[in-house]
Amino acid sequence: MAPKEITITGFTVRDLRWPTSLDNIGTDPMNLAGENSFGYLQYQTDAGLVGTGWSFANGQGNDVLCTAIRSLAPRFVGRTLSSLTANMGQTQRKISSGQIRFMSPERGVLQLATNAVLNAVWDLWAKAEAKPLWRLVADFTPEEVVRAIDFRYLSDVLTPEQALEMLRAQEGTKAERIRLALENKAVPAYNTSAGWLGHSDEKVRELLKSAMSQGFRHFKLKAGLGLEADRKRLGFVREVVGDEGILMVDVNQLWDVDEAIEYMKHLADLKLWFIEEPTSPDDILGHAKIRAALKPYGIGVATGEHINNRVMFKQLLQAEALDAVQLDACRLASVNEILSVLLMSAKFGVPVVPHSGGAGMVELCSHVSTIDFVVVSGKKSILEYTDHLHEAFEAPAAITPDGFHVTPTAPGYSCDVKEAEFGKFECPSGTFWQSEIGQKMLNDPWRGVPGEQTS
Ligand SMILES: [Mg+2]
Repeated sequence: MAPKEITITGFTVRDLRWPTSLDNIGTDPMNLAGENSFGYLQYQTDAGLVGTGWSFANGQGNDVLCTAIRSLAPRFVGRTLSSLTANMGQTQRKISSGQIRFMSPERGVLQLATNAVLNAVWDLWAKAEAKPLWRLVADFTPEEVVRAIDFRYLSDVLTPEQALEMLRAQEGTKAERIRLALENKAVPAYNTSAGWLGHSDEKVRELLKSAMSQGFRHFKLKAGLGLEADRKRLGFVREVVGDEGILMVDVNQLWDVDEAIEYMKHLADLKLWFIEEPTSPDDILGHAKIRAALKPYGIGVATGEHINNRVMFKQLLQAEALDAVQLDACRLASVNEILSVLLMSAKFGVPVVPHSGGAGMVELCSHVSTIDFVVVSGKKSILEYTDHLHEAFEAPAAITPDGFHVTPTAPGYSCDVKEAEFGKFECPSGTFWQSEIGQKMLNDPWRGVPGEQTS
């Protein structure tokens, strides 16, 4: 008997904001108040299943994100799931076309909204197949993977035929990698929880020691406080983690290009794997210049968490600007566009180290990194593990005692947030946002701006 057709009957968009800034989570040199937020979309269906998809935002930005999701979500209401999934590449192309494309084609907040809408479809698809998302994709034929991608703008670097060839080359050994994934041996973790600005030295030492005892060897820290302060802090971290520890630093777009080069030369003796987001995420040639200049010092360059589409990743790879592709599972147009970036990265031989430093990111990226390993690159990379807010999720991410991500097992894309979280943190109705401190934060138009924030 053919499976019952599933039809999307309606949707809800909810504004969910956690006041993570109160714990100094998410602070960086450009933003003093990180408030992990979701524009949270749920598609209801006539089969009782709910497709959940969200994009990530920061506090005030969530107003704009939720509005953008509301503008795209109605497009799929009344559609059957199979009409959307039969050709996901076409579905991606259609959702990013039309009048709304004028606002900013495949970038900006509309790209985030596109991601939320497509994530909800992928989540629904995986739930309908009773598989975790990574397994849905792992069970695709190479042709089915290729059909999920919109190759427009990519064919000078990657054609569907080349992608097919790459995927077919991995087919023979895929079963073995699926076995490793099922044994939680697919995705090694690295740690950033120790690295947020705002923690005291003592707190950092304590967090590092605890992370090392959990098997972590890679550590990423925020930098950019000034050479003296950075050298002191990073020197102290190097001392705690020893020579075998792999250190990375992140400055969240702080510098001009030449400034980045000059600054980082002075940290060369600390043996850093890479500098992350040294300058504007839009400056492709700038990243290439920084990478070339720092190469003799043994420091690489990484970026990606603000890269909005496959075209920018294509150019970063063409320009040889990257040592690690830090795609973000919510910046790109969902699994569709992620697959294209995984394929291009594999083609250029650059490891994918997804950005997953916010609530829910590890939940999504544990699928993405597993897909990279099992289906696309065939190579193990690493994935950030931050340890906040997992308890908010129905299918929380976790790590093993030997420092691997636990491979997701629940059907879907691990997007579902527990209903109790909305009672507290839905904005503005949740109890936290109705409290005195919550109201003060909401009413401060300068939240996060150094020197201007009043709450
Ligand atoms: Mg970063």
